[in-house]
Amino acid sequence: MNSNEIDIHKELKKYFGFSQFKGLQEQVITSLMNKQNTFVIMPTGGGKSLCYQLPALIQEGTAVVVSPLIALMKNQVDAIRSLSSENGIAHVLNSSLTKTETAQVKKDITSGLTKLLYVAPESLTKEENVAFLKSVPISFVAIDEAHCISEWGHDFRPEYRNLKNIIKQLGDVPVIGLTATATPKVQEDILKNLEMSNAVTFKASFNRPNLYYEVRTKTKNVESDIIRFIKQHKGKSGVIYCLSRKKVEAIAEVLKVNGISAVPYHAGLDAKTRAKHQDMFLMEDVEVVVATIAFGMGIDKPDVRFVIHHDIPKSLESYYQETGRAGRDGGEGHCLAYYSYKDVEKLEKFMSGKPVAEQEIGFALLQEVVAYAETSMSRRKFLLHYFGEEFDSETGEGADMDDNVRNPKTKVEAKNEVVKLLEVVRDTKHLYKSKEIVFTLIGRVNAVIKAHRTDSQSFFGCGVAHDEKYWMALLRQVLVEGFLSKDIETYGIVKITQKGLDFIANPTSFMMSEDHEYSDAEDEAIVT
Ligand code: ADP
Repeated sequence: MNSNEIDIHKELKKYFGFSQFKGLQEQVITSLMNKQNTFVIMPTGGGKSLCYQLPALIQEGTAVVVSPLIALMKNQVDAIRSLSSENGIAHVLNSSLTKTETAQVKKDITSGLTKLLYVAPESLTKEENVAFLKSVPISFVAIDEAHCISEWGHDFRPEYRNLKNIIKQLGDVPVIGLTATATPKVQEDILKNLEMSNAVTFKASFNRPNLYYEVRTKTKNVESDIIRFIKQHKGKSGVIYCLSRKKVEAIAEVLKVNGISAVPYHAGLDAKTRAKHQDMFLMEDVEVVVATIAFGMGIDKPDVRFVIHHDIPKSLESYYQETGRAGRDGGEGHCLAYYSYKDVEKLEKFMSGKPVAEQEIGFALLQEVVAYAETSMSRRKFLLHYFGEEFDSETGEGADMDDNVRNPKTKVEAKNEVVKLLEVVRDTKHLYKSKEIVFTLIGRVNAVIKAHRTDSQSFFGCGVAHDEKYWMALLRQVLVEGFLSKDIETYGIVKITQKGLDFIANPTSFMMSEDHEYSDAEDEAIVT
């Protein structure tokens, strides 16, 4: 059976009641039904589930769906069952099932009734399950939340690494990987681990034009600033993210004292309280949830109007996911982050107890957050660049929706400085991260520079007319412009691109804006 013989529009209407596909769904479904390995990168809410649910429902055999969270699997199974009169149309296979239940699941699969079988990666490692799946017709394997395969993703699960070996045993079945994680590094890891370099890739834009991005300096008055902000958004729903449970409790308390209805949410509260607080938020009995990142997975409240980060997040990926919970209905969504370099130092200290590789990844990811917070360029352009997407900060959708664009800093011509910077990167032969490049420009020595004897080179100190902050800002802007690239594999070695070499050969105007001054930031306890 191939996609030409089935009218997928008709099937869409029949099963889901929708008259149109959303975004790239149709192309994805066609690819999968043509038995091609398929890779889907769409932001949360983009409609990924339907990309495998519909082909599963209308093809012969059972589709195996790998998903990391039991709660999410259950939701999906309930949703599919509601589309059909047969309960057996979708099942979850996991170790919590009784013998009788497992037998029923297997019977429904064997009889051809079950179209979607949700499994946790752990269940797929069980020999008896694999043996069973080998004996029945499988239409395809879907790997949901595929970023769990990568250590560079925000939710690494080692069991995901073994999936390819198991899939191979199932014979020649097409694989569809799906994720809302858009960084090029994670995508590369997924394709490599699943051995899917031949996959047809579909990537939707991650631009959320209705979200407004803002960063404020975190001072000791941060709490009153938050209260003022919430009062300006009276009657609207919002989430405040903090990194520690203690902070969550403290902020929720301060808000309550100030007449704002707020509840805390973190993993230290018992399940009943968490569920109650989540329901209160969904039912609009409270305006604000103050939460750790434990809050949000699977939350689908369309009218969250603001997401505040009291503490900076650990990666831009998490920031994007967390702010992405605002404005899902397409309406206003204000994303405000408080930034202090002291928070960064604390996070670094917190990470220093971890294994070295994990630490390096953690530092590299955190540096990107710092760059985002300190930049004076379009935050949307910066974020989307991080996700490998070009954004025109003048004409792109949502271009004026951030603090930097609304209140631009004066720009200065930096053509000659860009050339100087690019030449230093070229002439230091791709050995350095941002810090050493800037040190070389301003003529400061450290152990790395000494070891390479860069301090005896003629260009050492060639940028002394400007300070460290200036060069760091310029370097970030030049990176986003694509004249330089940062190699994440080596934790941030900066390299010159062809575009950069072309600029040296043929320099044109380059208007830079100096970065924000955040030095007045105050200490805040974040990690407990
Ligand atoms: P994701 O998994 O990418 O976060 P979901 O699969 O949960 O997204 O879909 C998000 C929402 O979009 C759901 O409410 C779903 O019912 C809806 N949706 C999906 N496809 C369509 C479509 N073709 N037309 C209308 N709504 C759709």
